[in-house]
Amino acid sequence: MTAEIISIGTELLLGHIINTNTAFLSQKLAEAGIDVYYTSVVGDNPERITSSIRQAIGRSDIVITTGGLGPTVDDVTIETVAALIGKKLVLNKMVLKCLRDYFKFKKIKMPEATLRQAYTPEGVKCVRNKVGTAPGLLINWKDKVIICLPGPPRELEPMVVDDIVPYLMSRDRYVRRAHFSAPYHGPSTLRNRTIKITGLAESMVNKAVKDLLELKPPTTVGIYAKLDEVNLRIMAKAGDEKSAAKAIGKIETKIRSRLKDYIFGYDDETLEGSVGAILTARKKTIA
Ligand code: ATP
Repeated sequence: MTAEIISIGTELLLGHIINTNTAFLSQKLAEAGIDVYYTSVVGDNPERITSSIRQAIGRSDIVITTGGLGPTVDDVTIETVAALIGKKLVLNKMVLKCLRDYFKFKKIKMPEATLRQAYTPEGVKCVRNKVGTAPGLLINWKDKVIICLPGPPRELEPMVVDDIVPYLMSRDRYVRRAHFSAPYHGPSTLRNRTIKITGLAESMVNKAVKDLLELKPPTTVGIYAKLDEVNLRIMAKAGDEKSAAKAIGKIETKIRSRLKDYIFGYDDETLEGSVGAILTARKKTIA
């Protein structure tokens, strides 16, 4: 199962905002064991959005767009996607009710322009926006899935965690069941573990774990040199969390046995934090 992310917004192309949505989605999809091979950014232009989605749908199973779902004229994602899949926009009474409830709760009159957000492509599933107004869209089209999500991260993030990832994971299982005659090789979970090393040059670390760096999926090891440290990142894909953790544990044991004296931490730990912990344990201070 492969996914592709298209971030829509001229602001992104101009560098006015940082594309945190792609980073967030990439992480969540990786955790769900869904491979992301391409991500791209396109401005608020219907022709270029159409061509980006067409290209993405040709090479990925799932295409996720972010942004351009707002009520203003430069928000063109819905119209563009509707035209692409050949559906007309119709008033979605459920969405309209959600919008009315949203403004009622906020005790403000619903702006007229908001009504535009209640028009969605005919027959398409909408995902409730619990934080803002723009609904997400979940479209099954020609064996593929097109998902349209709102741009603001505070709206997109809960939708991804609460609705999109669970949907994709259950769909993945459904696809597996539906195609039971063909062996299923795809992953359902991707786990990773970073081992942090200091005091040894990248070339030396490379030499010590050369065989592990050559491993092929489902378990791989990558080497990343940073200022004052070298990171080894183990990634494992497996059918479930337990098997992925076991695969990681095996490689981690090998790395530890070879580089034990140079490892200062794991995952989010920092060199400063590790030194601080040692000093605290020894009741020492540093200035
Ligand atoms: P709105 O209802 O606010 O119009 P929208 O779905 O139309 O939402 P956009 O208009 O494209 O989304 O973007 C709204 C805001 O969301 C942007 O000004 C920006 O602050 C943020 N945003 C959009 N795309 C991204 C992104 N890829 N990464 C981070 N923030 C983003």
